[in-house]
Amino acid sequence: SITPASLSAISNGAKKGILFKGGVHLERLSHLSAIAFDKTGTLTKGKPEVTNVIVRSDMNEQEFLVKIASIERQSNHPLAQSIVEFVKNKQELTLVQPDSLEDVPGYGVIGSLQGDTWKIGKADFVGKEDAAEFENGISSTLASEGKTIVYAKDQHGIVGLLALKDVVRTEAVDAVKSLKEQGIHTVMITGDSEKTAEAISKECAVDEYIAECLPEAKVDKIKALKEKFPTVSMVGDGINDAPALATANVGVAMGEGTDVALETADIVLMKNDLSKISDAVALSRRMNSIVK
Ligand code: ADP
Ligand code: MG
Repeated sequence: SITPASLSAISNGAKKGILFKGGVHLERLSHLSAIAFDKTGTLTKGKPEVTNVIVRSDMNEQEFLVKIASIERQSNHPLAQSIVEFVKNKQELTLVQPDSLEDVPGYGVIGSLQGDTWKIGKADFVGKEDAAEFENGISSTLASEGKTIVYAKDQHGIVGLLALKDVVRTEAVDAVKSLKEQGIHTVMITGDSEKTAEAISKECAVDEYIAECLPEAKVDKIKALKEKFPTVSMVGDGINDAPALATANVGVAMGEGTDVALETADIVLMKNDLSKISDAVALSRRMNSIVK
């Protein structure tokens, strides 16, 4: 049932760019005790830029980049889009049509191109030991700068890597700070590597971070948080986040997120503005004190 107080709070929220899909979500938000954020596209802008390219000495960098971009062009992962963008801006080039492509959510892509089979993605995906041997300690430095490492391997072994840096949203640090001041435990959940997650979580000053989390594992993490905290929210933007948004007591989607995230969420941040979450909590607490 919609009370006059919640109706006025919902309309107040809408004016501020917070869309509540019902009064019950406002009521729940007033009891919020923990909040989990997805990293890419939520705490960060989700538009990573290629900062480093390292290729095997017997491989031409230009040739390597054309192959990688040709395969990544078929993927709609934010990292893939950034890689294609980078290669296109760098040189006049004709991308080649891959013979086949398979997206492996949370890991990377597999593509066959001109008779070679490529695996492009995280270390786990191309083989942790091969990756470590290839990068020889460099990735640790790159990751501690908050960069994401993407490895590329053909049927013979690792051919190269790219590092990409995504920037933290300008309001993210203050948004996390405000939530903490409201007594809410803050968490970052990501599929990215431990080191990269650590760097970004430090930048945002969240209380806790969970790295190397596969899409299906995000749900388990939310369930685990619900056992420790009575009311848990999840904030996300991607298709991968939708099950976790549904599992949380209050699912929050970024306004420019994918349709599935927007449909699943209870609350939508219309301008992607994370600072609106603590505003919404304050609003819900005020409404609750009026009702009582
Ligand atoms: P996040 O939780 O940070 O949004 P994802 O679960 O989407 O990350 O992906 C986890 C990791 O898998 C990425 O950090 C990246 O290393 C790798 N990955 C996934 N898709 C791709 C792709 N198309 N190209 C390269 N790497 C990928
Ligand atoms: Mg995301």
